Amino acid sequence: MTTHQAHAVPSGTVPNATDAPNALNATDVPTPPLTSADVAVDLAPLAAVLSDRALVDDLDVIAAHSKDRAVFAPIGAPRALIRARNVSDVQETLRFAHEHRLPVIPQGALTGLSGGANGVDGALLLNVAGMDRIVDIDTVEQTATVEPGVLNRALKDALVEHGLSYPPDPGSVDISTLGGNVATNAGGLCCVKYGVTKDYVRRLTVVLADGSLTTVGRPTAKGVAGLDLASLFVGSEGTLGVVVEIVVELIPAIPDPLTGVALFDDIRDAARTITEFMSSGVTPSMLEILDGTSIACINDYGDFGLPEGAAAMLLVQSNGDGSLERATADLTLFERIAAGQGATEVTISDDPDDSEMFIAARRSVGHALEKYAMAHGGGELVDDVCLPRKSLAEFFTRMQAIADEHDVMLAVVGHAGDGNMHPNVLFDVQDPASVARANAAFEAIMATGLELGGTITGEHGVGVLKQRWLAQELDPVAQRLHLAIKREFDSRGILSPGKMLGALAE
Ligand SMILES: Cc1cc2nc3c(=O)[nH]c(=O)nc-3n(C[C@H](O)[C@H](O)[C@H](O)COP(=O)(O)OP(=O)(O)OC[C@H]3O[C@@H](n4cnc5c(N)ncnc54)[C@H](O)[C@@H]3O)c2cc1C
Repeated sequence: MTTHQAHAVPSGTVPNATDAPNALNATDVPTPPLTSADVAVDLAPLAAVLSDRALVDDLDVIAAHSKDRAVFAPIGAPRALIRARNVSDVQETLRFAHEHRLPVIPQGALTGLSGGANGVDGALLLNVAGMDRIVDIDTVEQTATVEPGVLNRALKDALVEHGLSYPPDPGSVDISTLGGNVATNAGGLCCVKYGVTKDYVRRLTVVLADGSLTTVGRPTAKGVAGLDLASLFVGSEGTLGVVVEIVVELIPAIPDPLTGVALFDDIRDAARTITEFMSSGVTPSMLEILDGTSIACINDYGDFGLPEGAAAMLLVQSNGDGSLERATADLTLFERIAAGQGATEVTISDDPDDSEMFIAARRSVGHALEKYAMAHGGGELVDDVCLPRKSLAEFFTRMQAIADEHDVMLAVVGHAGDGNMHPNVLFDVQDPASVARANAAFEAIMATGLELGGTITGEHGVGVLKQRWLAQELDPVAQRLHLAIKREFDSRGILSPGKMLGALAE
């Protein structure tokens, strides 16, 4: 049995690749109709202007490149895969697609969790993972210039010898590309202090839907000339253009942190600790939460020294202002606040081995939940709501109510300092009733996120799977603006049709 990680599918249906919600048909695309998937298009002229063997028409290879990690998202049948090796390959592909009105799906490493990089019928998959050169590291400007296929970890590793760092660290840091990180505005564990991808993007070179090339952003540390178009591309999920070069800002190497762990019998006490600690003026470099179900699954997965039986665990790190004194003061304050909120145990450690083990435990949670899911029906819906921090206690009360009402198992982990929660609904994919309950729970989680003043996605993006929810989150004027911007950048609607903006109203 395989494990399925995905977002919601319609209540009462057994999920498969073709019946997931929000799948946009060609008829739903508001721009001029795209060439139907069953119309033959001669790709030889395109192949002739691309790098040698960049165009792949082997159906098995295309299928293998047609889906990201959101297993239940719809997967179409693209016509070809283009493994771009340079900017010219990207431009030629888009010029051809624009002329022939073919859908194009930009792709990085396909680690996305919302179906954004999945193939659609008749599309060209434009994969830029092979454009993976670190072009320049400028220690004076403190910037790095990279091609989009550079893995986040590869950049981090290359910066070590320069005493510099690039902080954004999604859980997929070892396997996702910087182009994908830009396109999804990826977050991660250290965002609570160091921010997300958008905070580090200085300049982008982008190929637009008609093949034209532009560079947006600032050449210098400061710059206010014109609109901030670079920010518009960050998080645009491949719907506005294909990022072919990125200039990111760097910071001096991050000092080592102290680590603290607090255990609670009631997860709402952990939530109140987060609220109080974050309002104390301290900025931790990490503040993560694991609920009791997640802790139990991690203990079943491996020995990371986590205690049995706790209802919640907070994992906190601080490197203060770089001094041990300040970091110690921060964690002493955390200890006092957690104890005051009813923590049953608080441990502070300056031993790097302890720290590494706790971080390894936190990073293992995906595998641990997958192991649990595989043994209990194989279904796992991963959600990604982000709440105002002051709503966290109420959020956990509602999560319990949702689990009870829909009779599902919920495991919640999250980037607590940011209020970014990942409730995982675990269910049996073979049992339609279980699938229906899981979907009802998933819908209820999304509704709760919005009701509590949060957003439908903190970092995983809208992709195919949250389009309907995006239409609920944005007001009518904002929806109109989104569609106007899309039309301006991509008048024929060839870039990622049926993704992200598909359910918005004019
Ligand atoms: C184990 C695991 C942990 C994860 N943890 C996190 C986390 O902590 N935080 C987080 O934010 N995400 C996380 N993710 C989700 C995912 O890794 C990120 O969204 C990542 O940024 C995707 O990068 P990618 O290279 O795989 O892009 P892909 O999945 O290939 O593409 C993602 C989206 O970006 C678009 N795109 C890709 N490259 C380009 C480009 N060059 N130009 C224009 N558009 C492009 C695609 O069309 C698609 O819409 C996790 C995923 C996994 C599997």
